[in-house]
Amino acid sequence: MPVAEWLEDVAGVVRDEPLHRHSQFGVGGPAQWFVRTRDEPALASLLQRCHEAGVPVTMLGAGSNALILDAGVAGLVVRHDDRHMRVVDRETVDVGSGCMMPRVALDCARRGMGGLEFGIGVPGTLGASVYGNAGAFGTELADVLRDCTALGPAGTRHTLGNDECGFAYRHSRFKDELRGDVVVSARLRVHQDAPLAVRERTDAVQAQRKATQPYGVRSLGSVFKNPPGDTAGRLIEAAGMKGRRAGGAEISRKHANFIVNVERASAADVLALVQMAHDTVLERCGIDLEREIVILGEPGR
Ligand SMILES: Cc1cc2nc3c(=O)[nH]c(=O)nc-3n(C[C@H](O)[C@H](O)[C@H](O)COP(=O)(O)OP(=O)(O)OC[C@H]3O[C@@H](n4cnc5c(N)ncnc54)[C@H](O)[C@@H]3O)c2cc1C
Repeated sequence: MPVAEWLEDVAGVVRDEPLHRHSQFGVGGPAQWFVRTRDEPALASLLQRCHEAGVPVTMLGAGSNALILDAGVAGLVVRHDDRHMRVVDRETVDVGSGCMMPRVALDCARRGMGGLEFGIGVPGTLGASVYGNAGAFGTELADVLRDCTALGPAGTRHTLGNDECGFAYRHSRFKDELRGDVVVSARLRVHQDAPLAVRERTDAVQAQRKATQPYGVRSLGSVFKNPPGDTAGRLIEAAGMKGRRAGGAEISRKHANFIVNVERASAADVLALVQMAHDTVLERCGIDLEREIVILGEPGR
C-alpha cells in the first residue's frame, strides 16, 4: 500500500472510506483515501502530486458498472462531481462528467432537445459513460459526443474530438492507451424538437427498460458484452444459468445477463457467478463471453 500521509492534509480527502456506500450493487471494501470534488484545477493539482508520489488514482462514478472488490482499493479514489449542464448552442450541450445520464436525458427533454433519450437507460455518470461508450436501445455515447475534455495522469488538460476517442462497442481509448485519464466534461450533439415529443421517446426507452431488465434491485447492469450476432443473456439462459446463486448473488430470473444482490452479496460471490456463467457458456455453447462490468480494487490488501 502506498504511503502518502500528506494526502490527509488535502481538503476533502478522507481515509478508509467504505466504498459499498458508493456502489449501486452495495459491495466493496474501503478506499485507502477518497475525495469527492467538483473543483477541476484542484483535481488537476491533486493528480499531479499523486503522479509524482507514485500514489495510484482510481476514478469512481456512480458505481453502477464497477464491481468494487471486498478488500477495497489502495491509493486515492476520486469521484469527480461536476454536474454542470450548459446549452452551448441549438445543437450542443456541455455537460460535467459527474452528471447522471438520466438527469441529462430529462433536462434535455424539458428544454426540447432530442438525441440523448437513451441516457434514461444508463444509471451512471457522463464521465464513466464516455469511458465505457455506454449505450442503450440502439444509441451510444459515440453517436452523440462532439468532443470531451480530460485530465491526463499528471493533471494536464486536453480535449479529444469524437474520432480521437477510439470508440467501439462498450470501449474507448480511456480503457487502454489513455488509462489513467480523467474525463471532466463533454460536449454532446442534440437537435431541437418539441419537449413533449422528446419526453415521450424518453419515457418509451424507460418503459422498455423496465419491461426487460430487473428494476428496483441492486445490479451492475449487463455483466457480459453481447458476442457478434447473439446476446449474452440468451446464451446464459440457454446454458441453464438463470436463478443460479453464489452466496447472496443471483443470476437474475428476469434477464440472465444481470446479476442481482439478493442477500448481502460480497464481491467474491459476484466473481464466482461471473466465472460460473462464463465457463458454462463456453462449455455448452463454445462462446468465450467478454466481461462488460469493470473490476476495481484487489481481492486482498
Ligand atoms: C440497472 C442497470 C442498468 C444499466 N443499463 C445500462 C445500459 O443500458 N447501457 C450501458 O451502457 N450501461 C448500463 N449500465 C451500466 C452503467 O450504468 C454504465 O456503464 C455507466 O456508464 C457507468 O457509470 P458509473 O458512473 O456508474 O461508473 P462506475 O461504475 O462508477 O465506473 C465505471 C468505470 O468508469 C471509470 N470512470 C468513472 N468516472 C470516470 C471519469 N470521470 N473519467 C474516466 N473514467 C471514469 C471507473 O474508473 C470505472 O472503471 C447499467 C447499470 C445498471 C445498474
